[in-house]
Amino acid sequence: MSAPALPPRFEPREIETRWQLAWSEADIFRAPERPKGTPFSLVLPPPNVTGVLTLGHMLGDTVMDLLARYHRMTGQPTLWVPGLDHAGLATQVAVRRALAKEGVRLENLPREDAVAQVEKWKSAREARIREQTLAGGFSVDWSRFRYTMDPASVRATREAFVRLYHEDLIYRAERMVNWDPRLRTAISDLEVVHAEETGSLAYLQYRWADGSPGGIEVATVRPETIFGDVAVAVHPDDPRHTSALGREVLVPITRRPIPVIADPAIDPTFGSGALKVTPRHDLVDHEVFQRHPGLPMPPDVIDERGRLASDWVPEELRGLDRDEGRKQTLERLRAEGYVLQEVPYPHSVARSERSDAVVEPRLSTQWFVRIGPLAEPAVAAVREGRVRIHPERWTRTYYRWMEAIQDWCISRQVFWGHSIPVYHCTPCAHNTVTVDVPEKCEKCGAPEIVSDPDVLDTWFTSWLWPFAALGWPEATSDLAHYYPTNVLVTGRDIMFFWVARMIMAGEHFTGRAPFADVYFTGMLRDETGRKLSKSLGNSPDPIDVMRERGADSMRFALLFPNPTEEDGPFGSHTLEGGAHFLTKVWNLVRFTLLHVSPGTPAPSGPPALSLSAPLENRWILSRWRRTAEEVDRALAAFEPSRASTAVYTFVWHDLADRYVEIVKESLLGRHGEPTAREARDTLLYVVERTLRLLHPFVPHVTEELWHALPHDGELLATARWPMAAESPADPVAELEMDTVLEAVRLLRNLRAEEHVPLETVPTAWIRPGGPEVARILERERGTLERLARVHPLTFLGPGSAAPPQAASRVAALGECYLERPSPGPEASEALRKERTKISALLEKTRARLGDEGFRARAPPEVVREAEEKARELAERIGRIDEHLKAEGSSSP
Ligand SMILES: [Zn+2]
Repeated sequence: MSAPALPPRFEPREIETRWQLAWSEADIFRAPERPKGTPFSLVLPPPNVTGVLTLGHMLGDTVMDLLARYHRMTGQPTLWVPGLDHAGLATQVAVRRALAKEGVRLENLPREDAVAQVEKWKSAREARIREQTLAGGFSVDWSRFRYTMDPASVRATREAFVRLYHEDLIYRAERMVNWDPRLRTAISDLEVVHAEETGSLAYLQYRWADGSPGGIEVATVRPETIFGDVAVAVHPDDPRHTSALGREVLVPITRRPIPVIADPAIDPTFGSGALKVTPRHDLVDHEVFQRHPGLPMPPDVIDERGRLASDWVPEELRGLDRDEGRKQTLERLRAEGYVLQEVPYPHSVARSERSDAVVEPRLSTQWFVRIGPLAEPAVAAVREGRVRIHPERWTRTYYRWMEAIQDWCISRQVFWGHSIPVYHCTPCAHNTVTVDVPEKCEKCGAPEIVSDPDVLDTWFTSWLWPFAALGWPEATSDLAHYYPTNVLVTGRDIMFFWVARMIMAGEHFTGRAPFADVYFTGMLRDETGRKLSKSLGNSPDPIDVMRERGADSMRFALLFPNPTEEDGPFGSHTLEGGAHFLTKVWNLVRFTLLHVSPGTPAPSGPPALSLSAPLENRWILSRWRRTAEEVDRALAAFEPSRASTAVYTFVWHDLADRYVEIVKESLLGRHGEPTAREARDTLLYVVERTLRLLHPFVPHVTEELWHALPHDGELLATARWPMAAESPADPVAELEMDTVLEAVRLLRNLRAEEHVPLETVPTAWIRPGGPEVARILERERGTLERLARVHPLTFLGPGSAAPPQAASRVAALGECYLERPSPGPEASEALRKERTKISALLEKTRARLGDEGFRARAPPEVVREAEEKARELAERIGRIDEHLKAEGSSSP
């Protein structure tokens, strides 16, 4: 495919769509069935069908695409599997909310209709997610797209459950779970949000059961749960309560006798040091209960909907919602004289992220994964370096979590999810647990079997993703060739819920870690430091960003200048930087095209430079090689930001600013045809190879520009990654150019200090610090004059007199002198004007600094910046005054 002639302005939209189409038509992202050589593979963390992609997703996708395109260009068969996650509860809640707006209650729909509603939702979201992924130019293999509810995922999920069940690593038990009474399901720790809220702490009197006066004081924030009490517990060493041990007290209102027991878990500093034990509705209470086997197990006094229930609750309170129940219980307690005091009490309250309901700790029968035996090999995988975590500092967090890991509750009481492959026999009570749905009990043969009503936690499918996405449990060719995958790129917020579990599942089901490297991206913030979020309105749809700025600008802005693994700012500023960079590349190629005659062949290698080749050619080839080496190293070490910094610095500063400026004269033939030819060949070679280096970062614009240059091959996306070693290393040239650039910097600083107008070309002198420096600088006189905009540049011998009236700088390489601008009336006038402007600015800045309100409100770095600015402005005024004085004295 050929591109139209390069227009003067870089307009990303048309270019990007065109190349996305070309890549798709050429089907170049489809990984080979039978790869030759060492493949590179990765799976896309499947986004939830709940929403659409955010800029956070774009960050991860950009890092993954950078790696995928890089490895594809190095010749490795590359597979990047895309997918979509059904996101059980999250999706059900989203659909529920959407239907509620139409006045429909999801719970009231027949199951098939409810599933149909979710499917409808899923299709709409899937289309949007695909559109976003395509627009970003991400090189996923769509032919291998997987959905976590497709038949193969169902098969994999059931297989995993059945195996673990028969290995005694899955069991059913009554345990404390996080219960969401609004959604009526157990939820994971991940779905619980803790926040400080102020409740009321009531001190209640539990009276002695034997009728003697007084009793024991118990403090609680949840008086409605007293009906489920089975004991009052105190710390064994608490002297206030020693005499109470062994006695009985009465539960207020219902007057049921319960014992006072001793337990070391009781905090003697909380309230009166006596804790009511309600084993079905509190985790700590349940643990106390388990240490005291004599206590009876009470019924649930709060049911699955969060209402007061059971015959342990006074009849008139039964059926009340928890909140109303608390109010009425307190009223009864007050009326009957049980309340000793009530105080406001700030404490941490757990709410369901999905419904905002206060989480009810609830003893409930659920399915669990016995995690210990699975966690051990997963810890070993990281310890033994089979899985490496980047940035490395997160390794410690990983170990810490794995040490404290608890059995995993995998059953959920929702309808949207994978059903649990357990079939309970009514006659003999045996559980048949099989991958294929059985017709009868495997033990007694009775056909009366009932399937488990619950569904599996979404993570129970997600943890199989790296191998299930490749076809497991079938022995597919993809699994044979592309597993284990090379790298997983994701956010660290799901390190435990997903990454750790994938390592466990990989080790257990496949005997291998599912990926060799894990790369955690940071969180994006806006330019004022706030997290990007829909509710703050600072998280635009990536499609809008790409429409406005282009996918490449977005991609580059996500990689540079803020490190992708840090929580960095992202906004219009960063995006503008990305767009500027691409415009720079665009103009660089347009400049190159001016010097490429029609029919010029594509550069097959670096030009063979003559012995007397100009320094700039030797230097730029060596600098290019160093940059390519740095990109290779950084990508191998999973440091995408280091790689992007290397290409940015090279392209912007070395190639576009310095080299192009230096080589212009040669290109114009001012030094003869052989020199011109060498310059053209060097420029074309370096620019062509640089487009290859840049391609994985900004694929569309590089593809477009590459087609405008002489090139071999159909597409840049399938061109070979440039070998750093192809270009000659020339440390001498780099050192010499460093000296030249240092001299340029000194002369430019002098220009700035002396307020030399841009169009003026003053005389300059350098007295080199030694013969070697003299040799280099004298040879590169032309380059120095051009880059520093001075003429003529004269070299002074050691001991010769300094030019009179010249401004000077002393540095390691020698002394630099610059002719002061001629003191004419126009120059003085210009200086005076500038002084007025700067004074006004300084006054404004000082006024701002003098404002106490500003100092109090503004972030410290803003204040510091203002102080710095004021200092700088004052200095500039000082310098102008010196000039004006000097002129005044030299004027007739
Ligand atoms: Zn049976």
